[in-house]
Amino acid sequence: MNLQAIRPGIEKDEAEHRREICAAGVWLYRRGFAVATDGNLSLRLDASRVLTSPTGLSKGMLNPEDLVITDLHGRQLEGRLSPSSELPMHLAVYRRRHDVRAICHAHPPVATGYAAAGIALDKALLAESILDLACIPVAPYATPGTDDLAEALDPLIEHYNAILLANHGVVTFGPDLLTAFFRMETTEHIARVNLVTELLGRQVLLTDRDVDRLLASRHRSRNVASDPCSRTRTADTPSADDTTRSRRDLEVLLAEALRTLNDDV
Ligand SMILES: [Zn+2]
Repeated sequence: MNLQAIRPGIEKDEAEHRREICAAGVWLYRRGFAVATDGNLSLRLDASRVLTSPTGLSKGMLNPEDLVITDLHGRQLEGRLSPSSELPMHLAVYRRRHDVRAICHAHPPVATGYAAAGIALDKALLAESILDLACIPVAPYATPGTDDLAEALDPLIEHYNAILLANHGVVTFGPDLLTAFFRMETTEHIARVNLVTELLGRQVLLTDRDVDRLLASRHRSRNVASDPCSRTRTADTPSADDTTRSRRDLEVLLAEALRTLNDDV
């Protein structure tokens, strides 16, 4: 068995979940997404228990027995170490999104740079990222490790699967650990591509037509959770009015997407 592998899905025994959180920690650490003791990971073992990384340890050096089990209110049920200080943020997501079974929080440097600059990753630059993450907003700054951070995220949790945390980092979530991790990796990739286009001094956004086609395919696959990105109507420079219209359209699409999602859970 490859001890560094993470299988898709959530139907696993507790020992496998523990091993996979440690493997995801190594992935985060080796990619430079979580330096020193940064970052944290969690997953829902069942309706009432959460398995999470402990506070104060490098995510690249976790052992399965280091992990902590809590209930959905943060009360510790198992483990000799204390749970991650960001557990309130994780629990806020689990309480709001019953489809979410795993959460990944890290500080990947380019996406965190955008978070520190207060710039959302909301441009329709990459077709494949629209299919999964659409826009990645910035949540207002709140002190890490406090309930304030969960509150800052609250209005965004239902609409997005990846969120930049101002002056802090990134949180991503999904139906299993592999998806949550991939969304972290994709967020950093999108940030890098954004940065390169900004360095090149030129960005050609997808047109409305392109985005609508992508959204249609996303609806067909029922993989919907968040709103699409800023886009141009043509290759011309978009006017402020275009942007306003797009955002209104997006709100309608978003409401529709959420209805679909709620039907699924
Ligand atoms: Zn953090």
